[in-house]
Amino acid sequence: MNCFMCKGNLEDKNTSFMTDIDNRYFIIKNVPSQVCEQCGDVSYADSIAVRLDEIIAKMESAGGEIVVVDFKKCKKNEINEIFVEVLNKALHSL
Ligand SMILES: [Zn+2]
Repeated sequence: MNCFMCKGNLEDKNTSFMTDIDNRYFIIKNVPSQVCEQCGDVSYADSIAVRLDEIIAKMESAGGEIVVVDFKKCKKNEINEIFVEVLNKALHSL
């Protein structure tokens, strides 16, 4: 498969996905993705894109201005536990 933008070679890599919604930042680390060797464009398989949407929805319902999770640890039904862990760590570091 080649890059949609420039037809360069795509490389399988884990990347960080970041988005901001209403001045809150959501970062998902270690997301399996395809990165273009030439222009650096990042794309996701359909199943991964769907999963990202699910995780972002969960992150939005969690508190905090900046929410970071590890994609690899986001198994179905375990996301809430991860947030508790993340928030506890954030509180301890205050
Ligand atoms: Zn490209």
